[in-house]
Amino acid sequence: MEINLGRLMKDFNNIIGFTSTPGNGCTRFSYSEEDQKAREYLFARMEELGLDVKVDTIGNIRATYGKELNKPSIMIGSHHDTVKNGGKYDGLTGVLAALEIIRVLKEEKAELQQPIELVSFAEEEGSNFGITMLGSKVCAGKYGLEELKKIQNPEGKSVCEAVKDFGLEIDQMEKDILQKGEVDAMIELHIEQGQILESQQKPIGIVQAIAGMRTYKVTIEGDSNHAGTTPMDLRSDPMAGAAEIISHIRKTAKCDALPTTVATVGKIECIPNIPNVIPHKVEFYVDIRDVEAKGVEIVSSKLAQKVKEVSEEYSLKSTIELVGKSDTVKLSSRIIGQIEETAIEQGFDYLKLNSGAVHDTAMLSGLTDIGMIFIPSKGGKSHCPEEYTSEKDIKAGCDVLLNVVRKLACKKTEKQKI
Ligand SMILES: [Zn+2]
Repeated sequence: MEINLGRLMKDFNNIIGFTSTPGNGCTRFSYSEEDQKAREYLFARMEELGLDVKVDTIGNIRATYGKELNKPSIMIGSHHDTVKNGGKYDGLTGVLAALEIIRVLKEEKAELQQPIELVSFAEEEGSNFGITMLGSKVCAGKYGLEELKKIQNPEGKSVCEAVKDFGLEIDQMEKDILQKGEVDAMIELHIEQGQILESQQKPIGIVQAIAGMRTYKVTIEGDSNHAGTTPMDLRSDPMAGAAEIISHIRKTAKCDALPTTVATVGKIECIPNIPNVIPHKVEFYVDIRDVEAKGVEIVSSKLAQKVKEVSEEYSLKSTIELVGKSDTVKLSSRIIGQIEETAIEQGFDYLKLNSGAVHDTAMLSGLTDIGMIFIPSKGGKSHCPEEYTSEKDIKAGCDVLLNVVRKLACKKTEKQKI
């Protein structure tokens, strides 16, 4: 059994038209006009299939095929929001794959023993509120109503206000929290957003673990002074200190931690940020990730040690604050096994790999068995207009997922047809 690629690409081309930046990538924030248009398109397709469509309080779409079976569902999907000037494939691939898979199973009159649920999580990219995977976090019960009242977008609008304006009843959010036993398995097809599959020429990636991470904010304060009149030995320059620490982070992650450890400084602020003034204060963020907790631990402790050393050497005042943390998520061996078996049966070369990026599916860990299939991203590029995955690879990923879903959700007679 295989998907109809032409039909899937038609969906793609329709939905990428809903962008606020035509000609410059896809910009489709959750709760925007473009989101509304994408939803209307998806709802129309779901109606054609006779799905039982529900939109929860935060805006996650949950549409069920075979609801009358009244059993835990096999959930498939991803998200359809984007970053600003993002790509065509991130998230949307998984949502449209789910739609196409249900279409094929209906067409083929596959006999279900469990319902199949299509999910498209809202606000995965954090484009409005700076919190990634907000929809799946709310679905998993990780946020309460009071917290959502406090989280604001740059214009000062809270999550609660934004979703109310979008026509949703946020006050009822408790009833939508996913309960253990409600979903039998969640499987997400997603572009890799990295270069491993492409470099190894494998069309299918089977994710084994999603890296845990820690984000630190490092603040270094010194003495602001004239860049021309202050001798080098009379300076306490926080920028020079920050530079030493930052280059040390790279060295530690590369040489002293584990082969899987990565660390990044991607944001830095300098006060007053003037070319001829020794700064008064420098703040930067350190993002450390690894599937092994030990790797994150090593870089964290070396960071603390280096900040202390540099501060003493240059007479600087410094603080390190942990501002974000998530643990490594191991994916279900039952689902990994099913994906592997199916890829072999279908003759697709595959690679077992880990994900350095966190995805919606990871939020459901502990509530259901989770699995992820990756497909190659050209040049590893993502979150930009150049993001690209070939139609051949999209089809391979969809076909593997389709047959995994058949094995999990369909009656035995159907399984034998695979
Ligand atoms: Zn994504």
